[in-house]
Amino acid sequence: MDLSFILNHLGEERQQYRNAVSPPVFQSSNFTFPDIEVMRRSLKDELNTPFYTRGHNPTVAILRQKVAALEKAEDALIFSSGSAAIAAAVLSQVKAGDHIICVQKPYSWTNKLLNNFLPRFGVQATMVDGTNAENYRNALQPNTRLLFLESPNSITFELQDIEAVVRIAKEHHLVTIIDNSYATPIYQNPVEMGVDIVTHSASKYLGGHSDIVAGVLCSSKQIIQQIFESEFMTLGGIISPHDAWLMIRGLRTLPLRVQKVSETTAKVVAFLEQQPWVKKVYYPFSPSHPQYSLAQKQMKGCGGLFSLELKADTIEEVEIFCNNLHYFLLACSWGGHESLVFPMCVLYTSQNYMQVQTQLPFNLIRFYIGLEDAGILIADLEQAYGCVQSFISGRQ
Ligand SMILES: *Cc1c(COP(=O)(O)O)cnc(C)c1O
Repeated sequence: MDLSFILNHLGEERQQYRNAVSPPVFQSSNFTFPDIEVMRRSLKDELNTPFYTRGHNPTVAILRQKVAALEKAEDALIFSSGSAAIAAAVLSQVKAGDHIICVQKPYSWTNKLLNNFLPRFGVQATMVDGTNAENYRNALQPNTRLLFLESPNSITFELQDIEAVVRIAKEHHLVTIIDNSYATPIYQNPVEMGVDIVTHSASKYLGGHSDIVAGVLCSSKQIIQQIFESEFMTLGGIISPHDAWLMIRGLRTLPLRVQKVSETTAKVVAFLEQQPWVKKVYYPFSPSHPQYSLAQKQMKGCGGLFSLELKADTIEEVEIFCNNLHYFLLACSWGGHESLVFPMCVLYTSQNYMQVQTQLPFNLIRFYIGLEDAGILIADLEQAYGCVQSFISGRQ
């Protein structure tokens, strides 16, 4: 389906709401019926007909169609957060006694779900180095049910060969789930590579304006119906109609935003790789990335998220660099209009609640490139490093 049709028209039955170009926010918890027979019919298909907003809401329904089409999936569910979508996806595939194989260093709350939360219910997980797909095979147990991927991950950007992992899963009749937040449906479509369930944190690129927290789950009609009847309706982590409307608005410009972000990021990364004060850049579309050819093979493009190791002897130098950035805001998250910086040394003094991250080097800084022009951002990086140099020379 044509991308511009999906974003501008799909799901929007405008004659049903007075030909408004922008759909209304159906801010209603419930829906009424002319008689019991019609009511009875609606209750039989709560996923697809307005009955009660936890199950179906017309504004959210427009969004579901667009998100599913973007991911080339049959259907989609929208959640109150990316973590809610991931948890529902994983919970839908396991029961007590089952085993999951997951790529190491996934998103921190995915890690928590698999290694802290699910063990309470008798589900165990093995974390593997996903840069070699065979590591998934080597970790197989008789009770393995699910292979979980996140490619690339969002701090050090290791990739999994998605088709190779799917092949292993199919040989053993296992389900695959991928967190596709980094690549967006514009740059990577795991469904086409045979993945069963695709999730996103829509708080990032899909929303795109740093104003909503939301998540999506895309899959076949059959799996969506199963998850709807169980995890979705039971746990009830739904998006509000108003946030769904904001996400529809955000999606209108998704291809434009990711394209601009990619172009700017390529320029900023090329600049940084030339700087003597940069020890290493982690970016899948940089030829220096160890999995560059795999990235080129399975991704159509690369977004605005990358990390670098600053040549620094102390945390103080990293702090001076980050504190002196003016255009890069010091914040978590990414995928919005604004450039951001998240230095790993933030984790060094925290309560150690994110064990995996605290094993990351103190000089590692994650960047997100927003919609600003490359020149402004490069100048900002240069002057911030100038502050570090002044500090170093003042000390000598
Ligand atoms: C942010 C993020 C999540 C969690 O999404 P929320 O919307 O914050 O719940 C999951 N995976 C990745 C890769 C993320 O960056």
